[in-house]
Amino acid sequence: MRWIHALLLLLFAMTLARPAQAATRVVATVPDLAALAAEIGGEHVQVTALSLPTQDPHFVDARPNLALELSKADLLLVVGLQLEVGWLPALQTGSRNPKILQGAAGYLDCSQFVTLLQVPTQQLSRAMGDIHPGGNPHYLYDPRAVRSVALGIAERLAQVDPAHADAFRANAQDFVGRLDAARVRWEADLAGLKGQPIIAFHNSWPYLADWLGFDLIMHIEPKPGIPPTPAHVSHVLQAAREQGVKVILQEAYFPTTTSQLVADKAGAKLVVLAGGTDFNAGQGWIANMDAQVAALKAGLGG
Ligand SMILES: [Zn+2]
Repeated sequence: MRWIHALLLLLFAMTLARPAQAATRVVATVPDLAALAAEIGGEHVQVTALSLPTQDPHFVDARPNLALELSKADLLLVVGLQLEVGWLPALQTGSRNPKILQGAAGYLDCSQFVTLLQVPTQQLSRAMGDIHPGGNPHYLYDPRAVRSVALGIAERLAQVDPAHADAFRANAQDFVGRLDAARVRWEADLAGLKGQPIIAFHNSWPYLADWLGFDLIMHIEPKPGIPPTPAHVSHVLQAAREQGVKVILQEAYFPTTTSQLVADKAGAKLVVLAGGTDFNAGQGWIANMDAQVAALKAGLGG
């Protein structure tokens, strides 16, 4: 009898030692989506980002360690609109994980939750540069888009891990509440941007411009993804002077030389914004936006 007791004790101890339930593994292509997933999934998810805010999300190195992350994923979050078309498909194939292939429950294209801007109405050709046929993919700078994306992620997490559906929805509501409050503050802080002519390096801010009411009059890249040429830069400089541009915008992952040159010659200020939330350092999306808004406000001169 004694060994049966010992065995039962052992089995009981093993039950106690087993974790309640393995966390859902979420992999996001960009840190903004990773930050949203962490916020909504809380303790029930384990989140990884495939890129850093210092990396241009159009061109991420498809290294084997990223495929390894994908091989373990239960849910893949993508920006979509072909932002990741140059690097993600190879990684998905390399991961040999059917759960995260397009069309599976573990694949979520977050662009479906967003009111898209710059959806081309004409035939596209290579000569037009790196144009996204589904619309502009840089919607994660806009709190209105982020609000819808957060709620969409919560619903998909609830589908992938139904046992924690209530927690995901509650976390999403909590996030959206804080986001709405912050948005009022940001709109007040950046009211001075309304109607301002602004020049940007890459075509990254149509959603921000739409939200805050500024005019993106030109880009320093002659076409998306094409480096600036002297002829185009002189056009941009002329427009900057004629329209009294005060702010030149660009992301930190692009070289600043040309933007700084245009800013200096036009008497404008170069505002370099982070390319996304510093998720690996524990930053949340709202904290990142607070920093972006502070940088924009400083660019406006107060
Ligand atoms: Zn782009």
